[in-house]
Amino acid sequence: MGLYLNFEIMRKKMVQEQILARGISDRRVIDAMVKIPRHLFVQEAFAAQAYSDKALPIGEKQTISQPYIVALMTEKLALTGKERVLEIGTGSGYQTALLATLADRVYSAERIRPLALRARRCLDSLKLFNVQLRINDTEGSPIGWEEEAPFDAIIVTAGAPDVPVILTDQLALGGRLVIPVGADAGQQLITIVKNEDGELLRESSVECRFVPLIGKQGWQA
Ligand code: SAM
Repeated sequence: MGLYLNFEIMRKKMVQEQILARGISDRRVIDAMVKIPRHLFVQEAFAAQAYSDKALPIGEKQTISQPYIVALMTEKLALTGKERVLEIGTGSGYQTALLATLADRVYSAERIRPLALRARRCLDSLKLFNVQLRINDTEGSPIGWEEEAPFDAIIVTAGAPDVPVILTDQLALGGRLVIPVGADAGQQLITIVKNEDGELLRESSVECRFVPLIGKQGWQA
């Protein structure tokens, strides 16, 4: 009980100091971050650091992103609750849990099987059953989820050398794609909006640093 209360206080402090203080204003995103227990998604040894202002290792040389970057990317998707969302890079499943709370249905792909299996257990423990996970662990698997396209929103939580055309093709008219783009050492967060005429409008925001997106139209493993 004491421990639970502690995590709840840490989570509220995280939202106050890292999310609200840096200008995130989408009330639904803020409420979801207050609600989702981030400490469940990190390895037990890192639970005490789960609400700190940084990315953390989740095993398999991968990371759970810094809370502010998660909030910013989620806000840029402008979700209302009705969307079908594609996530590339399930990782710990924390971002997936937020998306599942904020949209109608989430399709999330991960290339590292043990991470996907652990994420599934966490999502099930929170009763987030509107998430379909897919493991893309075979060499040369295409990025994306063509059979379920088009998506109202796509979020890529790994850094790509450029915006993969395979993903903009899977975006619905009026849909939004958020993706870190640039060199391995650092990327820029890019938002693409596909307007009703099918044109792609591109906006860049903050600098960030993600693990690489692996695959065709990504980086080599
Ligand atoms: N959003 C995650 C979270 O909340 O924990 C963090 C994801 S981590 C920064 C990036 C993930 O993308 C890694 O787990 C990595 O294995 C995965 N990844 C990289 N390339 C991929 C691909 N082509 N398809 C699916 N997942 C991929």
